[in-house]
Amino acid sequence: MSRVWNFSAGPAVLPEDVLRQAADEMLDWHGSGMSVMEMSHRGKEFISIAEQAEADLRELLAIPSNYRVLFMQGGAIAENALIPMNLLGSKGVADYVVTGSWSVKSQKEARKYGAVNIAATSEPSGFTTVPAMAEWKLSADPAYVFACTNETIGGVEYPFEPDLARIGRGEVPVVADMSSHILSRAIDVSKYGLIFGGAQKNIGPAGLTLVIVRDDLIGHAMVHCPTAFDFRIVADNHSMYNTPPTYAIYIAGLVFQWLKRAGGVAAIEAQNIAKAKLLYDFLDGSDFYENRVDPACRSRMNVPFFLKDEALNDAFLAESKVAGLVQLKGHKSVGGMRASIYNAMPLAGVQALIDFMRDFAARRG
Ligand SMILES: *Cc1c(COP(=O)(O)O)cnc(C)c1O
Repeated sequence: MSRVWNFSAGPAVLPEDVLRQAADEMLDWHGSGMSVMEMSHRGKEFISIAEQAEADLRELLAIPSNYRVLFMQGGAIAENALIPMNLLGSKGVADYVVTGSWSVKSQKEARKYGAVNIAATSEPSGFTTVPAMAEWKLSADPAYVFACTNETIGGVEYPFEPDLARIGRGEVPVVADMSSHILSRAIDVSKYGLIFGGAQKNIGPAGLTLVIVRDDLIGHAMVHCPTAFDFRIVADNHSMYNTPPTYAIYIAGLVFQWLKRAGGVAAIEAQNIAKAKLLYDFLDGSDFYENRVDPACRSRMNVPFFLKDEALNDAFLAESKVAGLVQLKGHKSVGGMRASIYNAMPLAGVQALIDFMRDFAARRG
């Protein structure tokens, strides 16, 4: 068996310990004589798995008791519709901060369900920055303010928490798409109304969508919101109104336990800072490669970079693959390369990438 260094933006690398444990438990989970995949979601075994996963997530993020954790489906893209459907209520308007491809998509989808005000956009910079909160122009009474706190494609991450109290609007709930950096850094959940993300970046397999939502934002769904996606119904039924993605919840639970063993979010954040610094310092010190994001807003998770001579892109991708480094091609809308270095990517993987890049530059520069 040989494993590669996988820099995919998602579905992405998982901790090897978790994959081994899942393999060990595949045929017989804890003496049940069954795989988790074969269990009823209403049986005591699976309910214990789901409850443990939620408890561990609550501990890792210190989620206050007035927030509900929902295990949903449809991915972050479905949430782009489900959030306005559930939260717009009688206000009918929401504010969006646009910082890249994902928030562009989110505000576009929301327009199907209500009025959208663009509170701020970093489009003039080519989506390489995050607009300072002092520049956000909120509408008079929005149902929420939406932010994508890590733009996976552009590699732009908020260098601050979007705490609206700092601009005197603490009464407005913040909705944050954290798909690609949830659990990578410490956050104060109480500063948000709703946090969501697809699991396949930093948590587990595709198919599970995590929603962390404050109590008072539940129960305002539009009449035509599908029953299975009404936050009230999902919450009241402990995410089991319909059959949840059981195996994905199980793997996410194993990832949460792995993270706790690794020292929790503070410990992984320190590792993420070290990994990102290593890679950005290398890029900045090179005259062969470059990153074009405002240094203050560079993502610790997704690092887009360019070869200054783009004619070498194909050779770079072919040779890196031979060296066991995969999924480095940048998103088609950005071009160049992108290395996603989520929680499960060890420092050694980042070091292997840099070693290859240095060697490639020496041979081709
Ligand atoms: C990947 C991603 C999405 C899309 O997730 P799906 O699971 O494909 O719906 C949305 N937002 C962000 C920030 C992402 O990284």
